[in-house]
Amino acid sequence: MKILFVTPECAPYVKTGGLGDVSAALPATLAALGHDVHLLLPAYRGMKVSGEIGDGVDLPPWGPWPAAQLVPVKIANGVTLLLLTCPALYQRAGGPYVDASGRDYPDNALRFGLLSRVAADLGTVRSPLKGWMADVVHANDWPCGLAPLYLAQARTIPTREPTASSVITIHNLAFQGVFGMETADLLGVSHDRRGMDGVEFWGQLSMLKAGIQCADVITTVSPSYAREIQTPAHGVGFDGILRARSARLRGILNGIDTTLWNPATDPLLPRHFAPDKLDGKALCKTALQARLGLPQDRKAMVYAVVSRLTPQKGIDLVLGALPRLLAAGAQLIVLGQGDPGLQQALKDAAIKQPRQVSVTLGFDEGLAHLVEGGADVFLMPSRFEPCGLNQMYSQAYGTVPIVAPVGGLLDSVTDASADPQHGTGFIMTGCDPAGLDDAIARATRLFREPVKWKRLQANGMARHFGWEDSAMQYLEVYERARRLADGEPALPPVLAADPARPQGSRR
Ligand code: ADP
Repeated sequence: MKILFVTPECAPYVKTGGLGDVSAALPATLAALGHDVHLLLPAYRGMKVSGEIGDGVDLPPWGPWPAAQLVPVKIANGVTLLLLTCPALYQRAGGPYVDASGRDYPDNALRFGLLSRVAADLGTVRSPLKGWMADVVHANDWPCGLAPLYLAQARTIPTREPTASSVITIHNLAFQGVFGMETADLLGVSHDRRGMDGVEFWGQLSMLKAGIQCADVITTVSPSYAREIQTPAHGVGFDGILRARSARLRGILNGIDTTLWNPATDPLLPRHFAPDKLDGKALCKTALQARLGLPQDRKAMVYAVVSRLTPQKGIDLVLGALPRLLAAGAQLIVLGQGDPGLQQALKDAAIKQPRQVSVTLGFDEGLAHLVEGGADVFLMPSRFEPCGLNQMYSQAYGTVPIVAPVGGLLDSVTDASADPQHGTGFIMTGCDPAGLDDAIARATRLFREPVKWKRLQANGMARHFGWEDSAMQYLEVYERARRLADGEPALPPVLAADPARPQGSRR
């Protein structure tokens, strides 16, 4: 199958969160399964790409967009990277979405409109790559949301062009790509798609809504999140449209890249370890404590957070639980960046208790690996969590996760109190201070029983979190999208709750 995976970020070139990891691993797994995968990504400033560079294809100025170029690079994992080169739009100081001071670029509609436009063109007979037209265009999050819309428009123009089918994956429904309705003219959104059944969202244009309304299939990154986003509590205003399209909605749990996240081979760890050889983990723990200037105390329970520091991630709950953690002699390590208020509160805690709290503000891939390698417990009290990767990295690294009972956390952690034999972590009873205190108390009790703790670690490390299962599910989705694009009716909506699903099971 010819698959075009379009994304605003992809590790290791550019990454702000889980989407970057997914964009690296899923296309590579699909390519390893024998599919022809092209990955379309803007060429941001400072990106270092190595591979076999092909001839660039000029894209003439079109509508509001300046001239651009598509540069194909065959990378080592078998994927063809298509770098969308347009210096005026993408060569900026700052991140992919925001400037150096954290403000959205004012022309984001144009920047990601172009990305979507080119993705859609690659799925039509007008594909700029001679001899290559995608069978399916797989769009990711709001920056690619207009791609399914442009494909739907191409299908309905009088010529009814043959087009690729389209899939959109929601990695986080909270980011909706909302712009003034005047951008509809600028971006070429047809008049019949500007209403409530199209891109309109409270009088404005939402690029994510465009994708949800127009894609042949919608996926999100865990089965639990797929259910949750159809409810007012987690739908962020989109629950109605998602319920209306629930026959096309499916949750597929992300995997992790086990070539990068494997404690037996990870080059970013000072010592390697495996379930039957945990001495290396103890050395990682003291190396982590030493690096961060904490006492190298093997007995102190080390709690860790590696995260965007935002209200979503429940960092305020961690701050609330801190006095009790400290009173119990534990250490807390935080690596993250984000909300200035949370950053300050964490820094204040570290200044007050330098022998028990370490806070590193910033993004540091190497330290993230060392934290996973050295910590005892990983805290993820997220208010919502579409999938979450760190709870999976933690299990693979023998670091026991404490997680909120939401989204992908529920789908990837088995609660040790509910199932002592197979438990891999602790699921909070609720996403509130009492739920976190209770989970910490349960973890502390078990930590004092080394045999049981080791079993918990071994259970997590034995979990299979590779991408293969998920990639097979995406292939089913691509086939289904094709049939739906060809006119097969969508099945009746599935129920929002699936009582047969065992709690805490990944499969
Ligand atoms: P989200 O996508 O909501 O930010 P995920 O858990 O899905 O959360 O993915 C976060 C990814 O980003 C993980 O790979 C995590 O290790 C990484 N990450 C987050 N913050 C940092 C940081 N400050 N330094 C290094 N890696 C980080």
